[in-house]
Amino acid sequence: MIDLDRVRADTPGCQEQVFLDSAGSSLPPEPVLAEVIGHLRREAEVGGYRAEAERAEDLAAGYQVAADFFGCAPTDVAFTDSATRSWLLGMSAVPLAAGDRILVSQVEYGSNAIALMQRAQEFGATVELVPSAEDGSISVPALTAMLDERVKLVSVVHMPTNGGLVNPAKEIIDAAHQVGAIALLDACQTAGQRRVRLDELGADLISVTGRKWLRGPRGTGLLVVNPAAAPRLRPPLVDQHSADWSALGEWTLRQDARVHELWESSIADRLGLIAALRYADELGIDDIQAAVVQRAAFLRAELSALPGVTVHDLGTERGGIVTFTVAGVDGEEVKKALVAKDITLSVGGTTGALLDMTARGLAQVVRASPHYFVSQEQLVRFVAAVAEIVA
Ligand SMILES: *Cc1c(COP(=O)(O)O)cnc(C)c1O
Repeated sequence: MIDLDRVRADTPGCQEQVFLDSAGSSLPPEPVLAEVIGHLRREAEVGGYRAEAERAEDLAAGYQVAADFFGCAPTDVAFTDSATRSWLLGMSAVPLAAGDRILVSQVEYGSNAIALMQRAQEFGATVELVPSAEDGSISVPALTAMLDERVKLVSVVHMPTNGGLVNPAKEIIDAAHQVGAIALLDACQTAGQRRVRLDELGADLISVTGRKWLRGPRGTGLLVVNPAAAPRLRPPLVDQHSADWSALGEWTLRQDARVHELWESSIADRLGLIAALRYADELGIDDIQAAVVQRAAFLRAELSALPGVTVHDLGTERGGIVTFTVAGVDGEEVKKALVAKDITLSVGGTTGALLDMTARGLAQVVRASPHYFVSQEQLVRFVAAVAEIVA
């Protein structure tokens, strides 16, 4: 069980405000803040190089912290500056040729889709849509029927940006592996709110952001690379951190996942992300998941019971994203009325998941994403505020 008093005490931003935007950019706990601010101060005192050297052990330990959290080896972890960067690095490292096929699902994330289409066009590959099952999740039988040896990449969005659906990642990844395709898992919305482990899921690549459910600083992310897939990848961006340069025409790439990192990064933010990972690990991801699922399920039930409110989440298995619309009231107006009552959430348009939004005839959804630090009293206050908008 999560100690609600403790986590709320660690989270200054959650006291008065009803914070329901952890799928957007969550509230970092005190230990994360302390790391980031403390390191920026130290950089101002002794310079960035010396400040970094002082934290060398902690930075090295960060790979082990991430490895424990994501069920892999420290050498399978690369620190990046966003989930999108991680995803693009992973995707662009998959060799493609004319006639190759790439499979995506209806809930493919906008940035992923755009980058994929552009890369496919460059190589004469195709991007194809895997049909959804009745409950809105990726249909594994439909995927299996589409597979052949020309499928080089299967993109799996673990949880979309626009709904609580959790896709059956393991089944999809296993299917992709039947034809030797690379399975790229976008765990941006699941990492930090439920179990995401390489050793359990077997994905080839996993992309993660820091600022959402992990409660890390903005501008942080992780790429987890399965060592079984690594030899087939061609890192698209390399520098003197990714490789050893020995002579003109001679260089040797690193053999671990750090080949995907660049030398320069925000050390303060990285220390903050490591603190966020430690914090989540200390609470326990299974307890976090239970707390988030319970809060989201409560909101879905309560919102569905309000006349004029429609909840739009797909899937049988669901996580911490709750999406809804209020009949006759624009999403931005809903948000404005809620912000006036110190309730923070997001409104999503079509760009984040164009195919899914279009297929369901949705122009926008209001998105409430309660983390474990939101109290029951606050959830009730939020539902009452939505009820007032309806009335
Ligand atoms: C937010 C989001 C991303 C992108 O994360 P960034 O940290 O902004 O790069 C990718 N995929 C999904 C499903 C998301 O919701």
